[in-house]
Amino acid sequence: MKMKGKMCFRFGILVFVGLLWLTSCAAPTPTPPPVTPTSTATLQHPTATAPLPASPTATPNIPPKASPTPEPPLPTVIRPRYTISAALDYGRKTLAISEQVEIPHPGDSPDNIVLVVQPNWYPGVFDLGTLAWGDGVPVEAYSLEGIRLTIPLDSPWQAGETRTISMTYSLSLPPVERGDEFGPNPFGYTNRQVNLTDWHPFVPPFINGEWVAHTPWFYGEHLVYPLADYTVEIQLANAPDSTVIAASGLDRGEGDIHRYQMEATRTFVWSVSPEYRVYRQQVGDVTILGYGFPFDAIGGEAAFQTTVEAFEFYNQQFGPYPHESLSMVQADFNHGMEYNGLYFLSRAFYNTYDGSAATYLVAIAAHETSHQWWFGMVGNDQALEPWLDEAFATFSERLFYENLHPEALDWWLAYRVNYYEPQGLIDGNIYDYGGYRPYRDAVYLNGMNFLTALRAAIGEDVFTAFLQDYLTRESGKIATADDFFAILSEHSDADIGNLLVQYFR
Ligand SMILES: [Zn+2]
Repeated sequence: MKMKGKMCFRFGILVFVGLLWLTSCAAPTPTPPPVTPTSTATLQHPTATAPLPASPTATPNIPPKASPTPEPPLPTVIRPRYTISAALDYGRKTLAISEQVEIPHPGDSPDNIVLVVQPNWYPGVFDLGTLAWGDGVPVEAYSLEGIRLTIPLDSPWQAGETRTISMTYSLSLPPVERGDEFGPNPFGYTNRQVNLTDWHPFVPPFINGEWVAHTPWFYGEHLVYPLADYTVEIQLANAPDSTVIAASGLDRGEGDIHRYQMEATRTFVWSVSPEYRVYRQQVGDVTILGYGFPFDAIGGEAAFQTTVEAFEFYNQQFGPYPHESLSMVQADFNHGMEYNGLYFLSRAFYNTYDGSAATYLVAIAAHETSHQWWFGMVGNDQALEPWLDEAFATFSERLFYENLHPEALDWWLAYRVNYYEPQGLIDGNIYDYGGYRPYRDAVYLNGMNFLTALRAAIGEDVFTAFLQDYLTRESGKIATADDFFAILSEHSDADIGNLLVQYFR
């Protein structure tokens, strides 16, 4: 576990002098020794009243003052709302960020708020400047331990009341290749790319009386995201003129300000490079974008076209995609990852692309694209029930090949699945499996085998109707296996007892 609570004393004064700050506070100079989180006397008065450049979209919703009437205050937000201003010094790989988060009452009565601060998992990356309530009063006695920023409430949280937290912080990005102990993750920088994934403190879901903030693990994803709304403003400095931002949403900024608005999304991520070649295609109302490196142009074109093809197919097969864009980004490292509105595709697959659909570049692009439905729309607890997105994404690959590239289906079955002789119960959590290979083989591959067997058991038409109904009813939520089987039982009374024995604990 890591403890962090360092203060950047100049932050309060200089925060929106922006680049001045970047060259002082966040430069890789020796950092002062950590100050314990309870040393609130050192907190500067927050700058919460002016955290953002003037913007028509940046007007914060201020919770109503306590009223003499017994009526609870009206909620100002129905899901967490982030208003973030980020200045990236591309050359130094540092960011100065101000963030306001409005949090609706979670429906139960917590005595604290937990924000997930994934960047704090990496040593020397996250540096908290100021932390205050929406009215500007500094937060007292918070703690930042591992990825959990725990904020005790200063007064009881009434049902229907929105709480607002404002903070300033800096990030000194780590290299993406930072050792196996942190597991593969796109967050950080390479020689040609900066990736901001799980980059800002966020509100996890509050389920069964607890904020869901699982411990990071060596493989698999551990974070659980409720839907949230975002307004993000990004400014770049110290970057070549050719620098391009890929993001979960479309850039509606002007001049040097890049402005994004995204509603009902689980994540907002972005990736920056001076080398991106950009692909763009409209599919109905949705803009599909691809970002790749020129030296892999052939693979980049194929990955982009696969994304477009798979997107159109899933949109019709599962249900309509709810956002205005989807970006595919070539990872400058050997792993991929899905986020809402953007996914990374491992560069390793570009090298092996041979011009046919019988290749990992195509299979994995189809897989990652499907996560917009099985992760982005139907959410799940990725740590405790990873089969609910990964088995579905791998099964979506199968559907992609069966319907669009039947000539490559045998290759896919032989080399993506059966070569590994997948086995293992599919409903373990990410901490259960004792290694990436047993985890992947059970959750992804055998999970796909289960869905294939279920389709055979209940019939293809029933299965397709069930899948669409499951998507519709669980979209925007965090689905569980119980939800899956409850909805399934409404579509079929086929005896699947043998499948449950074969695939489930
Ligand atoms: Zn996946």
